[in-house]
Amino acid sequence: MYRYIALPLAVILAAGTPAKAEQREWREVFSPDGTITQLYVKKQVDSPLSPFASMAADVVALQETGPSSQRFDLVFVGDGYTSSQMSLLRSHAESKWAEVSSVEPFRKYKNYFNVWLVNVISTDSGVDNDPTRGISRNTAMDMGFWCSGIERLLCVNQNKALAFAANAPQVDQVMALANSTKYGGAGYTSGGLATASGGNAQSGQVAIHEFGHSLGKLADEYFTAGTTYTGGEPSWANASKLTAAQMTANRTKWHAYIGRATPDGGVIGTFQGANQYNYGIYRPSENSLMRTLGKPFNLVGLDIMDAAIAAKIVIGPVACAGYETSRTGSLSTGGNAYQPDNSWFQTTASGTHRACLDGATSSDFDLSLQKWNGSAWNTVASSAGSTEDKTVTYSGTAGYYRYWIYAASGSGTYTLGYDAP
Ligand SMILES: [Zn+2]
Repeated sequence: MYRYIALPLAVILAAGTPAKAEQREWREVFSPDGTITQLYVKKQVDSPLSPFASMAADVVALQETGPSSQRFDLVFVGDGYTSSQMSLLRSHAESKWAEVSSVEPFRKYKNYFNVWLVNVISTDSGVDNDPTRGISRNTAMDMGFWCSGIERLLCVNQNKALAFAANAPQVDQVMALANSTKYGGAGYTSGGLATASGGNAQSGQVAIHEFGHSLGKLADEYFTAGTTYTGGEPSWANASKLTAAQMTANRTKWHAYIGRATPDGGVIGTFQGANQYNYGIYRPSENSLMRTLGKPFNLVGLDIMDAAIAAKIVIGPVACAGYETSRTGSLSTGGNAYQPDNSWFQTTASGTHRACLDGATSSDFDLSLQKWNGSAWNTVASSAGSTEDKTVTYSGTAGYYRYWIYAASGSGTYTLGYDAP
């Protein structure tokens, strides 16, 4: 018995839309075997945010490697996870990050990503139309399969997903996870947003492809057989009307890469077919991730992705690195601040507190750890030498703590890193 099952997936607004201003859009449709096609479907219209809805939610750091101003901040939000399923959401987010960070150039920059999880709580467990069409659930971000009649197309209310993501300290890219094991996903051009099925091991590939669009501004490299591109030279770095010889002659597009080995196999050249069209347009390699899921980026795409990530991070040793939590701030001489966030934190176990303060250049900033004794804040540990970097260690019982930073001399920005029991 033999049958073919089309297994669709993601959404994207592509250039070169054939019909005009009708409320329709292209959706990318992915199959578990890696092939990608597109369908032109009715445009998704999200319900607006209710003025009464609270989008507040707890945020946890799955990985925090430095201040957000020097890092790429990836934010996971979850849909269809109840209050008792937060640990399941966390394990789903961790496995998706593991999948993304095993692919270059994410692997190379893995330690320059902050990865945040927003614990979005839903009333019901699971999402709409899962496992079959017609099932409706009350969830925080309205995620569901069978979006626009496409089984594997996993849509999300973009307004809600982005509002929940905004709870994280900074947002460079959002992944919305559905509490499901069914294969599916989608990509949106606005807001750097992709969806994936949290419990499905393959679905992270969709997000990596969508990163190619949102982060690298890369064109698709797949095409529909028999179609011909008739537009002008496209702006994408990985699609062109020019042949290899023309590129070389004009020193344009990926001319500098021609003939070089590429991670997806073979060498870079000009291969017929890109941006959905079979003829009249070329891609740089035979079969990259922008054509087939599960493949690497080709050398052209890889360098572009590398540069896009590099532009958002600061390479090099980060002051006070290696702590679970970090905060940055700025002080003038004589000024002081409490961290975290002009507030305090609670520990529910005894153990060791460890902190490091990297003060402004040529400054003398002091660091103290304070504990609430029931009626006042007591300083329990401090470091007030004249060096730029200060460290504090304290072994304490459960309770309420905060850090106090004082600019004894000099002014400028500081970074505080700390671990709590
Ligand atoms: Zn695509």
